[in-house]
Amino acid sequence: VKENGKDNYSIYEGYMIEKSANIMELELELRKAVENQEFILYYQPKIDLNTEEIVGCEALIRWDHPRRGIISPEKFIPLAEETGLINQIGEWVLREACKQNKKWHDTGWSDIQMAVNMSVSQLKQSNIVTTIESLLIETQLDPRFLEIEITESISMVTEEEKIKQLFDLKEFGISLAIDDFGTGYSSLKYLNKLPVDTLKIDKYFIDEVGMSTYSTSSLMVNAIISLAKSLNLKVVAEGIETQEQMKYLKKHQCDIGQGYFLCKPLPADELEKFFKR
Ligand code: C2E
Ligand code: CA
Ligand code: CA
Ligand code: CA
Repeated sequence: VKENGKDNYSIYEGYMIEKSANIMELELELRKAVENQEFILYYQPKIDLNTEEIVGCEALIRWDHPRRGIISPEKFIPLAEETGLINQIGEWVLREACKQNKKWHDTGWSDIQMAVNMSVSQLKQSNIVTTIESLLIETQLDPRFLEIEITESISMVTEEEKIKQLFDLKEFGISLAIDDFGTGYSSLKYLNKLPVDTLKIDKYFIDEVGMSTYSTSSLMVNAIISLAKSLNLKVVAEGIETQEQMKYLKKHQCDIGQGYFLCKPLPADELEKFFKR
Protein backbone atom coordinates (compact mmCIF):
# COMPACT_ATOMS: atom_id res chain seq x y z
CA VAL A 1 0.00 0.00 0.00
CA LYS A 2 2.85 2.33 0.89
CA GLU A 3 4.62 1.63 -2.39
CA ASN A 4 1.48 2.40 -4.24
CA GLY A 5 1.00 5.66 -2.39
CA LYS A 6 4.52 6.68 -3.22
CA ASP A 7 3.96 5.91 -6.90
CA ASN A 8 0.85 7.99 -6.95
CA TYR A 9 2.69 10.80 -5.30
CA SER A 10 5.44 10.84 -7.92
CA ILE A 11 2.93 10.68 -10.75
CA TYR A 12 1.18 13.64 -9.18
CA GLU A 13 4.48 15.45 -8.74
CA GLY A 14 5.40 14.79 -12.37
CA TYR A 15 2.04 16.11 -13.43
CA MET A 16 2.52 19.25 -11.37
CA ILE A 17 5.96 19.87 -12.87
CA GLU A 18 4.63 19.38 -16.37
CA LYS A 19 1.67 21.60 -15.63
CA SER A 20 3.76 24.42 -14.24
CA ALA A 21 6.16 24.16 -17.20
CA ASN A 22 3.17 24.71 -19.48
CA ILE A 23 2.04 27.68 -17.47
CA MET A 24 5.53 29.15 -17.53
CA GLU A 25 5.63 28.72 -21.30
CA LEU A 26 2.23 30.36 -21.60
CA GLU A 27 3.38 33.20 -19.37
CA LEU A 28 6.42 33.79 -21.58
CA GLU A 29 4.25 33.78 -24.66
CA LEU A 30 1.78 36.14 -23.03
CA ARG A 31 4.60 38.59 -22.29
CA LYS A 32 5.64 38.40 -25.94
CA ALA A 33 2.03 38.87 -26.99
CA VAL A 34 1.87 42.10 -24.99
CA GLU A 35 5.07 43.36 -26.66
CA ASN A 36 4.00 42.34 -30.15
CA GLN A 37 0.39 43.46 -29.68
CA GLU A 38 -1.10 40.11 -30.61
CA PHE A 39 -4.54 41.00 -29.24
CA ILE A 40 -7.69 41.91 -31.08
CA LEU A 41 -11.07 43.12 -29.92
CA TYR A 42 -14.42 41.72 -30.93
CA TYR A 43 -17.54 43.75 -30.28
CA GLN A 44 -20.95 42.42 -29.31
CA PRO A 45 -23.91 44.79 -29.69
CA LYS A 46 -26.37 45.58 -26.92
CA ILE A 47 -29.86 45.91 -28.27
CA ASP A 48 -32.77 47.92 -26.85
CA LEU A 49 -35.42 45.20 -26.61
CA ASN A 50 -38.25 47.65 -27.29
CA THR A 51 -36.92 49.63 -30.23
CA GLU A 52 -34.50 46.92 -31.43
CA GLU A 53 -31.88 49.59 -31.90
CA ILE A 54 -28.23 49.13 -31.05
CA VAL A 55 -27.51 51.17 -27.95
CA GLY A 56 -23.99 50.05 -27.32
CA CYS A 57 -21.52 47.25 -27.54
CA GLU A 58 -19.15 45.31 -25.36
CA ALA A 59 -15.48 44.93 -26.24
CA LEU A 60 -14.28 41.34 -25.82
CA ILE A 61 -10.60 40.54 -26.14
CA ARG A 62 -9.07 37.66 -28.11
CA TRP A 63 -5.45 36.62 -28.40
CA ASP A 64 -4.52 36.18 -32.03
CA HIS A 65 -1.65 33.74 -31.43
CA PRO A 66 0.79 33.40 -34.36
CA ARG A 67 0.74 29.56 -34.20
CA ARG A 68 -2.29 28.60 -32.14
CA GLY A 69 -4.79 30.95 -33.74
CA ILE A 70 -7.52 32.76 -31.83
CA ILE A 71 -7.41 32.09 -28.08
CA SER A 72 -10.40 32.85 -25.85
CA PRO A 73 -10.04 35.28 -22.92
CA GLU A 74 -11.06 32.54 -20.52
CA LYS A 75 -7.75 30.82 -21.37
CA PHE A 76 -5.43 33.75 -20.65
CA ILE A 77 -7.16 36.46 -18.58
CA PRO A 78 -6.73 34.49 -15.31
CA LEU A 79 -2.99 34.14 -16.01
CA ALA A 80 -2.78 37.78 -16.99
CA GLU A 81 -4.35 38.65 -13.64
CA GLU A 82 -1.93 36.42 -11.70
CA THR A 83 1.14 37.82 -13.42
CA GLY A 84 0.08 41.44 -13.38
CA LEU A 85 0.14 41.55 -17.20
CA ILE A 86 -3.55 42.42 -17.01
CA ASN A 87 -2.63 46.04 -16.35
CA GLN A 88 -0.88 46.47 -19.70
CA ILE A 89 -3.43 44.34 -21.52
CA GLY A 90 -6.30 46.23 -19.91
CA GLU A 91 -4.83 49.57 -20.92
CA TRP A 92 -4.52 48.36 -24.50
CA VAL A 93 -8.16 47.22 -24.43
CA LEU A 94 -9.34 50.57 -23.08
CA ARG A 95 -7.39 52.58 -25.63
CA GLU A 96 -8.46 50.39 -28.55
CA ALA A 97 -12.14 50.34 -27.51
CA CYS A 98 -12.28 54.11 -26.96
CA LYS A 99 -10.52 54.76 -30.30
CA GLN A 100 -12.98 52.49 -32.08
CA ASN A 101 -15.99 54.09 -30.48
CA LYS A 102 -14.75 57.58 -31.33
CA LYS A 103 -14.34 56.40 -34.93
CA TRP A 104 -17.93 55.11 -34.94
CA HIS A 105 -19.22 58.35 -33.48
CA ASP A 106 -17.40 60.29 -36.18
CA THR A 107 -18.98 58.16 -38.91
CA GLY A 108 -22.49 58.75 -37.58
CA TRP A 109 -23.25 56.00 -35.06
CA SER A 110 -23.17 58.68 -32.45
CA ASP A 111 -25.19 57.12 -29.63
CA ILE A 112 -23.14 53.97 -29.21
CA GLN A 113 -21.84 53.38 -25.71
CA MET A 114 -18.75 51.21 -25.40
CA ALA A 115 -18.48 48.76 -22.51
CA VAL A 116 -15.09 47.45 -21.43
CA ASN A 117 -14.53 44.57 -19.01
CA MET A 118 -12.23 45.40 -16.16
CA SER A 119 -10.62 42.98 -13.74
CA VAL A 120 -10.78 43.87 -10.10
CA SER A 121 -6.98 43.66 -10.07
CA GLN A 122 -6.85 46.59 -12.52
CA LEU A 123 -8.67 48.66 -9.94
CA LYS A 124 -5.84 47.99 -7.51
CA GLN A 125 -3.54 50.22 -9.54
CA SER A 126 -3.37 53.52 -7.75
CA ASN A 127 -3.16 55.43 -11.03
CA ILE A 128 -6.07 53.72 -12.80
CA VAL A 129 -8.26 56.82 -12.63
CA THR A 130 -5.65 59.09 -14.23
CA THR A 131 -4.85 56.38 -16.79
CA ILE A 132 -8.48 56.20 -17.91
CA GLU A 133 -8.89 59.98 -17.86
CA SER A 134 -5.86 60.49 -20.06
CA LEU A 135 -6.98 57.72 -22.43
CA LEU A 136 -10.28 59.53 -22.88
CA ILE A 137 -8.49 62.79 -23.55
CA GLU A 138 -6.10 61.06 -25.97
CA THR A 139 -8.91 59.37 -27.91
CA GLN A 140 -11.31 62.32 -27.51
CA LEU A 141 -14.17 60.06 -26.51
CA ASP A 142 -16.84 61.66 -24.35
CA PRO A 143 -16.71 59.81 -20.96
CA ARG A 144 -20.50 59.32 -21.12
CA PHE A 145 -19.90 56.80 -23.88
CA LEU A 146 -17.63 54.59 -21.83
CA GLU A 147 -18.97 51.97 -19.45
CA ILE A 148 -16.83 49.78 -17.24
CA GLU A 149 -18.12 46.26 -16.50
CA ILE A 150 -16.92 44.81 -13.23
CA THR A 151 -17.57 41.31 -11.99
CA GLU A 152 -18.58 41.02 -8.39
CA SER A 153 -16.09 39.45 -6.04
CA ILE A 154 -16.21 39.21 -2.29
CA SER A 155 -12.87 40.83 -1.54
CA MET A 156 -13.76 43.99 -3.34
CA VAL A 157 -16.48 45.38 -1.18
CA THR A 158 -14.16 45.54 1.77
CA GLU A 159 -11.42 47.50 0.04
CA GLU A 160 -12.30 51.14 0.43
CA GLU A 161 -9.51 52.34 -1.85
CA LYS A 162 -10.93 50.49 -4.86
CA ILE A 163 -14.39 51.78 -4.13
CA LYS A 164 -13.07 55.32 -4.06
CA GLN A 165 -11.53 54.83 -7.52
CA LEU A 166 -14.95 53.82 -8.82
CA PHE A 167 -16.51 56.98 -7.41
CA ASP A 168 -13.76 59.05 -9.06
CA LEU A 169 -14.43 57.40 -12.44
CA LYS A 170 -18.12 57.98 -11.98
CA GLU A 171 -17.54 61.64 -11.21
CA PHE A 172 -15.60 61.91 -14.45
CA GLY A 173 -18.74 60.78 -16.30
CA ILE A 174 -18.04 57.11 -16.92
CA SER A 175 -20.79 54.52 -16.30
CA LEU A 176 -20.42 51.44 -14.19
CA ALA A 177 -22.05 48.04 -14.73
CA ILE A 178 -22.06 45.04 -12.44
CA ASP A 179 -21.33 42.04 -14.65
CA ASP A 180 -22.58 38.49 -14.02
CA PHE A 181 -25.05 39.92 -11.55
CA GLY A 182 -26.52 37.35 -9.20
CA THR A 183 -23.66 34.86 -9.39
CA GLY A 184 -21.41 36.52 -6.80
CA TYR A 185 -21.59 36.49 -3.06
CA SER A 186 -22.30 40.05 -2.22
CA SER A 187 -24.49 41.42 -4.96
CA LEU A 188 -26.78 43.38 -2.74
CA LYS A 189 -24.03 44.76 -0.57
CA TYR A 190 -22.42 46.03 -3.76
CA LEU A 191 -25.48 47.91 -4.85
CA ASN A 192 -25.50 49.69 -1.59
CA LYS A 193 -21.86 50.73 -1.73
CA LEU A 194 -21.02 51.35 -5.37
CA PRO A 195 -22.07 54.05 -7.82
CA VAL A 196 -23.71 51.53 -10.15
CA ASP A 197 -25.65 52.42 -13.35
CA THR A 198 -26.36 49.01 -14.84
CA LEU A 199 -26.98 45.42 -13.79
CA LYS A 200 -26.07 42.67 -16.22
CA ILE A 201 -28.02 39.50 -15.53
CA ASP A 202 -25.69 36.54 -16.00
CA LYS A 203 -26.33 34.06 -18.80
CA TYR A 204 -26.70 31.37 -16.16
CA PHE A 205 -30.15 32.75 -15.30
CA ILE A 206 -31.11 33.52 -18.87
CA ASP A 207 -30.48 29.92 -19.98
CA GLU A 208 -33.66 28.59 -18.36
CA VAL A 209 -35.84 31.54 -19.15
CA GLY A 210 -38.66 30.98 -21.63
CA MET A 211 -38.57 27.20 -21.21
CA SER A 212 -41.01 27.01 -18.34
CA THR A 213 -42.47 30.14 -16.91
CA TYR A 214 -42.13 29.14 -13.29
CA SER A 215 -38.55 27.91 -13.21
CA THR A 216 -36.54 29.35 -10.35
CA SER A 217 -34.27 31.08 -12.86
CA SER A 218 -37.08 32.98 -14.50
CA LEU A 219 -38.36 34.10 -11.12
CA MET A 220 -34.84 35.30 -10.30
CA VAL A 221 -34.70 37.18 -13.57
CA ASN A 222 -38.00 38.87 -12.74
CA ALA A 223 -36.68 39.76 -9.31
CA ILE A 224 -33.45 41.23 -10.68
CA ILE A 225 -35.38 43.27 -13.23
CA SER A 226 -37.68 44.76 -10.60
CA LEU A 227 -34.75 45.35 -8.26
CA ALA A 228 -32.99 47.27 -11.03
CA LYS A 229 -36.12 49.26 -11.82
CA SER A 230 -36.78 50.23 -8.24
CA LEU A 231 -33.18 51.40 -7.86
CA ASN A 232 -33.41 53.27 -11.15
CA LEU A 233 -30.73 51.18 -12.84
CA LYS A 234 -30.51 49.92 -16.40
CA VAL A 235 -30.81 46.18 -16.74
CA VAL A 236 -29.11 44.09 -19.42
CA ALA A 237 -29.70 40.38 -20.10
CA GLU A 238 -26.64 38.56 -21.46
CA GLY A 239 -26.49 35.29 -23.37
CA ILE A 240 -29.87 35.44 -25.15
CA GLU A 241 -29.86 32.46 -27.51
CA THR A 242 -33.51 31.91 -28.43
CA GLN A 243 -36.60 33.73 -29.58
CA GLU A 244 -38.43 32.48 -26.45
CA GLN A 245 -35.86 34.03 -24.14
CA MET A 246 -36.07 37.27 -26.04
CA LYS A 247 -39.89 37.29 -25.82
CA TYR A 248 -39.84 36.51 -22.12
CA LEU A 249 -37.38 39.29 -21.36
CA LYS A 250 -39.33 41.81 -23.40
CA LYS A 251 -42.55 40.84 -21.68
CA HIS A 252 -40.91 41.31 -18.28
CA GLN A 253 -39.60 44.75 -19.19
CA CYS A 254 -35.92 43.99 -19.43
CA ASP A 255 -34.43 47.07 -21.16
CA ILE A 256 -31.47 45.72 -23.06
CA GLY A 257 -30.35 42.37 -24.44
CA GLN A 258 -27.18 40.76 -25.69
CA GLY A 259 -26.62 37.29 -27.09
CA TYR A 260 -25.99 35.08 -30.09
CA PHE A 261 -29.68 35.27 -31.00
CA LEU A 262 -29.29 39.00 -31.56
CA CYS A 263 -25.68 39.14 -32.74
CA LYS A 264 -22.42 37.33 -32.01
CA PRO A 265 -19.30 39.28 -31.01
CA LEU A 266 -17.72 40.47 -34.28
CA PRO A 267 -14.58 42.27 -35.45
CA ALA A 268 -15.16 46.01 -35.97
CA ASP A 269 -15.52 45.90 -39.75
CA GLU A 270 -18.10 43.10 -39.61
CA LEU A 271 -20.07 44.86 -36.91
CA GLU A 272 -20.27 47.90 -39.16
CA LYS A 273 -22.20 45.79 -41.68
CA PHE A 274 -24.60 44.89 -38.88
CA PHE A 275 -25.01 48.60 -38.00
CA LYS A 276 -25.97 49.37 -41.57
CA ARG A 277 -28.88 46.93 -41.60
P1 C2E B 1 -18.42 38.19 -19.85
O1 C2E B 1 -18.00 39.60 -19.60
O2 C2E B 1 -19.49 37.62 -18.97
O3 C2E B 1 -18.81 38.14 -21.40
C1 C2E B 1 -19.82 37.32 -21.96
C2 C2E B 1 -19.26 36.13 -22.67
O4 C2E B 1 -20.35 35.37 -23.23
C3 C2E B 1 -18.37 36.45 -23.87
O5 C2E B 1 -17.41 35.40 -23.96
C4 C2E B 1 -19.34 36.39 -25.04
O6 C2E B 1 -18.69 36.15 -26.27
C5 C2E B 1 -20.20 35.24 -24.63
N1 C2E B 1 -21.55 35.29 -25.21
C6 C2E B 1 -22.26 36.36 -25.65
N2 C2E B 1 -23.49 36.00 -26.07
C7 C2E B 1 -23.57 34.66 -25.89
C8 C2E B 1 -24.60 33.70 -26.13
O7 C2E B 1 -25.70 33.99 -26.60
N3 C2E B 1 -24.32 32.40 -25.82
C9 C2E B 1 -23.10 32.02 -25.30
N4 C2E B 1 -22.89 30.75 -25.03
N5 C2E B 1 -22.12 32.91 -25.04
C10 C2E B 1 -22.35 34.21 -25.33
P2 C2E B 1 -15.87 35.70 -24.25
O8 C2E B 1 -15.75 36.78 -25.28
O9 C2E B 1 -15.19 34.40 -24.48
O10 C2E B 1 -15.38 36.31 -22.86
C11 C2E B 1 -15.36 35.53 -21.70
C12 C2E B 1 -15.02 36.35 -20.47
O11 C2E B 1 -13.69 36.87 -20.55
C13 C2E B 1 -15.92 37.59 -20.33
O12 C2E B 1 -17.14 37.21 -19.73
C14 C2E B 1 -15.06 38.46 -19.45
O13 C2E B 1 -15.21 38.12 -18.09
C15 C2E B 1 -13.65 38.10 -19.89
N6 C2E B 1 -13.12 39.14 -20.79
C16 C2E B 1 -13.34 39.31 -22.12
N7 C2E B 1 -12.68 40.40 -22.59
C17 C2E B 1 -12.04 40.95 -21.52
C18 C2E B 1 -11.19 42.11 -21.34
O14 C2E B 1 -10.90 42.89 -22.26
N8 C2E B 1 -10.71 42.33 -20.08
C19 C2E B 1 -11.02 41.50 -19.02
N9 C2E B 1 -10.50 41.79 -17.80
N10 C2E B 1 -11.81 40.43 -19.15
C20 C2E B 1 -12.32 40.15 -20.38
CA1 CA C 1 -18.91 41.58 -19.52
CA1 CA D 1 -21.20 36.46 -17.87
CA1 CA E 1 -17.54 37.23 -16.51
